[in-house]
Amino acid sequence: MPIETFEIPRPDNMHVHFRGMSGLLRLAAPLTASVFRRAIVMPNVPQIRTADDLVNYRRDIESVTEGADFEPLMTLMLTEETTPEMIREAHAVGCSAVKLYPKGVTTASQHGVADVMKCEPAFGAIADCGMLLLVHPEKPGEFVLYRERMYLDMVRWIMAHVPDLRVVLEHISTFTSSRMVQDGPQNLAATITPMHLHGDLDMVLGDGLRPHNFCYPVLKTPEDRRELIRLALSGHPRVFAGTDSAPHVRGAKESPCGCAGVFCDPVAIPVYAAVFEQHSELANGSSWRDRIRAFLSENGADFYGLPRNEGTMRLGRASWSVPGVYVDDDGKEVVPFLAGETLEWQITERDDHA
Ligand SMILES: [Zn+2]
Repeated sequence: MPIETFEIPRPDNMHVHFRGMSGLLRLAAPLTASVFRRAIVMPNVPQIRTADDLVNYRRDIESVTEGADFEPLMTLMLTEETTPEMIREAHAVGCSAVKLYPKGVTTASQHGVADVMKCEPAFGAIADCGMLLLVHPEKPGEFVLYRERMYLDMVRWIMAHVPDLRVVLEHISTFTSSRMVQDGPQNLAATITPMHLHGDLDMVLGDGLRPHNFCYPVLKTPEDRRELIRLALSGHPRVFAGTDSAPHVRGAKESPCGCAGVFCDPVAIPVYAAVFEQHSELANGSSWRDRIRAFLSENGADFYGLPRNEGTMRLGRASWSVPGVYVDDDGKEVVPFLAGETLEWQITERDDHA
């Protein structure tokens, strides 16, 4: 029986975590490259603080994705020691964006920024180079569910001081961030992960503790989630996919102090498709397929000033079971998002050079 399918241009993932050269990199990067045409690669593990770091890391990623029609787009980690000269050097070797981690807020952010005001010269250089500032918007030390909301004033301060800087609020998780982007200026955008659209905090601790659903920012309330779904389906041009896929070995997640991060790229596209379809009434007179095309394949490229991708991907309604575990070539196990569950959508076809 023919299955229901539809086609979109090859998608972009505007927020992904790989790892240093290891089995985890050889597992995660090819998997992302098999789905996405481009990905914005986060600079926290390994720490990418100089142009040389960036070039070496890009070479490692390219060596494990050779033959794939895939382009890693690299980022630099902002620290209080990052000078305008370092920003220009990174730009000269092809850096796409600079990532602001508040100090101590998530995995390997101990070199992040405590005092944003010290970075004003760097912000100016980022804007002058035409790069973007990507923000992990959480205020360290605050109650975990309030951290995102409490960091937004810092983002407003940055945007007021460097008005021509393009800023992306990464992996937004709250009603407040959604409205800030919706009503915000042309130079403010947001990424949304599959986790934050698929579920709320109950998915982490409402029915036993589920460490493989744990990420920062943590999933929030049903009201927050509903607002994120509304924003994603609204067709807002500055809202796009960034999966925040982050592989961790099983033992680091299933632990008394488990680390944050969800390995979601194996299921990201099917999860986005299911959410968009289930909430198609929020597409405001447009079709959910048009909305997901923009979200996955158009809005991110447009905001970054990149050409839209050639090539296509076909999604089909055909159920499949998510593997319970992936094993890298060092024998390390990584449990993916929704391990063992049955999903209704899958990628049925890819054509790199349509
Ligand atoms: Zn991330």
